[in-house]
Amino acid sequence: AAVDATGLLKNLNPEQYAAVTAPAEPCLILAGAGSGKTRVLTTRIAWLMQTGQVTPAGVMAVTFTNKASKEMLTRLTAMLPVNVRGMWIGTFHGLCNRFLRAHWKLAGLPQGFQILDSADTVSAIKRVIRAMKLDEERFVPKQVGWFIAGAKEDAKRPGDIEPIDEQTKTLIAIYQAYEDQCQREGVVDFAELMLRSYELMKGNLAIREHYQRRFQHLLVDEFQDTNKLQYAWLKMFAPPGRGQGVIAVGDDDQSIYAFRGARVGNMADFEREYRVKKVIKLEQNYRSFSNILDSANELISRNSKRLGKTLRTDAGPGEPVRVYEAASDFAEAQWLIEEAQALHRQGVDRKEIAVLYRSNAQSRVIESALFNAGIPYRVYGGLRFFERAEVKHALSYLRLLENANDDTSFLRVVNFPTRGIGARAIELLQDAARVSGRSLYQSVGAVTGKAGSNLQAFTQLIDSTRNLTQGLTLREIIEQILEISGLSEFYRNDKDGADRLENLGELINAAEAFVTQEGFGKDAVALPVDELAPGAISDGFPVAVAPANFTPDAETGEIMSPLAAFLTHASLEAGDNQAQAGQDAVQLMTVHSSKGLEFDAVFITGLEEGLFPHENSASDADGLEEERRLMYVAITRARQRLYLCFSQTRMLHGQTRYNVKSRFFDELPESALKWLTPPRQAFGSGFAKEYQSAWERGSGLKSMVGAGRVNHDKAAWAEPAVPAAMKKKEDAEHGGLKVGKGVFHTKFGEGVLLTLEGSGADARAQVNFGRHGMKWLALSVAKLTPIDA
Ligand code: ATP
Ligand code: MG
Repeated sequence: AAVDATGLLKNLNPEQYAAVTAPAEPCLILAGAGSGKTRVLTTRIAWLMQTGQVTPAGVMAVTFTNKASKEMLTRLTAMLPVNVRGMWIGTFHGLCNRFLRAHWKLAGLPQGFQILDSADTVSAIKRVIRAMKLDEERFVPKQVGWFIAGAKEDAKRPGDIEPIDEQTKTLIAIYQAYEDQCQREGVVDFAELMLRSYELMKGNLAIREHYQRRFQHLLVDEFQDTNKLQYAWLKMFAPPGRGQGVIAVGDDDQSIYAFRGARVGNMADFEREYRVKKVIKLEQNYRSFSNILDSANELISRNSKRLGKTLRTDAGPGEPVRVYEAASDFAEAQWLIEEAQALHRQGVDRKEIAVLYRSNAQSRVIESALFNAGIPYRVYGGLRFFERAEVKHALSYLRLLENANDDTSFLRVVNFPTRGIGARAIELLQDAARVSGRSLYQSVGAVTGKAGSNLQAFTQLIDSTRNLTQGLTLREIIEQILEISGLSEFYRNDKDGADRLENLGELINAAEAFVTQEGFGKDAVALPVDELAPGAISDGFPVAVAPANFTPDAETGEIMSPLAAFLTHASLEAGDNQAQAGQDAVQLMTVHSSKGLEFDAVFITGLEEGLFPHENSASDADGLEEERRLMYVAITRARQRLYLCFSQTRMLHGQTRYNVKSRFFDELPESALKWLTPPRQAFGSGFAKEYQSAWERGSGLKSMVGAGRVNHDKAAWAEPAVPAAMKKKEDAEHGGLKVGKGVFHTKFGEGVLLTLEGSGADARAQVNFGRHGMKWLALSVAKLTPIDA
């Protein structure tokens, strides 16, 4: 077509084409993994804008993760030279935040409201439970948190819940007290972001009409994982019958958030309520080779509750799916690192290699192995940069600069570093605050004596820093607060504080990166409000160069300060490890957070009964089906290579577990698999004991390998063994020998040093001498010299 000047449509298949160019009416796309659902959404936005059917302001697109929304923006800018700043593309939480920033007053929030991340939420609830003098064993803060989040996702305020029994009555009371506390402190949790914006839309006709008129097109990715409130929220922006273009795309086989209230049923409801004329199905997979796709298809065919779709690929079989059985979690980590290094040497970017695991706890061993081998990696979720203690301390000081009434932050740092403010003084302060209904900051006057004056000194420190940092750049503000608060000093004096100081330095880097990325700079100016049409409700849209995700205040047109924006970013994107942004790094994440993404090579680790499928879910049929969908998601992330691995023993939560391989192996087509390890050889019963005691000695499996007890090199390597083994501390003691580096031996010639163990007379080295093979050598005897290369 002539209008397709930039060739947007030329690579689409007929079904995709139909979806991209569909008229502006409700449309449901139901299709399997890698069939181009996300691509269709992105292309449609580009198409609508290119053909002048909509301006950037008229589109709202909802994605599931921050990573996904960034990817959509990137794909979009690659297709069309459009200024995507100010476009409503983001996660539900991100969009709600944006909405509430623009309408904070109507939403009953303070202008600088802060967002509680999940850890903050639990500690805020804990404070409520303590203040109410309730038993924390009976009302476990985390569980109370689930109750409250569940209620909010049902759009229920405390008054809407039926007090069916005593327990529920108390829970309702906690919910109420928690709400009051949040309101007083000017903070909102994740569920509140959704509920608040939903309620504002529902209760305010003018706002509702404004947004319904504004958004001619809504597009929702990963619709199968929306919950009840999210669907209701969408209906506020685009109710059935209002004539907007609403496209929802989803895959029932990838619904993996039922435990958090996701409703696959939303898809059927959508089809019915929006009177969808024809459900579009996409059946061609463009992502994976057929060995990978066949594995996914065969596995998921075991599920009974499915809407039914087919998925095929024209790509050939590709590499077989490689399966590796390790003797321990260490060996598993080491194996996958060596494989990953081999891939990297073959030209695969590190960021195209993903290591997936079912539970966050599994990442530790893999992380430490990567770390020791000096391989850059990046973790999504789990061990989060913004959740590290020192970073949270710094953020709390920054939050207090923005909003001194934020009690969570106040409590976190009022006596950190220590300022002679004891538990007793805090209790007095909390009582006073409760009685007067004011914040802790506002109540310091109520505490007398030495502690009282120490508290005064603390609030003065906050106030004076706030004055001092007026007009400074974000970087300067953070540098100032780190010094003035005494945090830097504290970690400088702490003999184990080096890492923490480094993280504080990374916080400054993260802030810099954020400022540049979001376009806060001298040219970030908001158009004055009076340039808007008279009488229009300002959602802050017509802004010249507004920072991408932050909307100016509806009344003043003021763009959020870089500091406030950065703090929001820190709460919303706690899962992104900014410290390593931009580096080519191996990607580590849970299967849950890998949804929607794709990589050249994927490792699925810990495929053991009890771990994957997880023991909490394996017992009931629904749980098991959800685990299987998770496995389906994991498998379908891979483009070219897929590796599955499991381990006979694993340290988890401080216990050694002896594992059986996952039942999922029996559900995969044998023809697509290649076992790198021979069928499991039975270790004598002595093995377990020996392994255990090796662990206790702190040497673990390594020493057993060294002692020839375990041959962990049975694997038929696709590649010769590679030298990225874990680096040992003893390096220095062995006359300049370095793991991973070349060595020379008078008899065997040149080799690569794989392992160094023991010390003194006991020192041993494992070396790969190429055609002479792999050898263990006693260093007291063998003369090894390092080769500089
Ligand atoms: P998931 O269910 O995992 O979210 P998806 O259905 O959203 O997958 P996409 O991520 O949109 O799938 O597409 C998968 C891959 O296939 C992407 O790399 C995409 O660019 C590519 N792709 C999609 N459609 C086509 C096409 N018509 N021609 C070539 N490549 C395509
Ligand atoms: Mg997708």
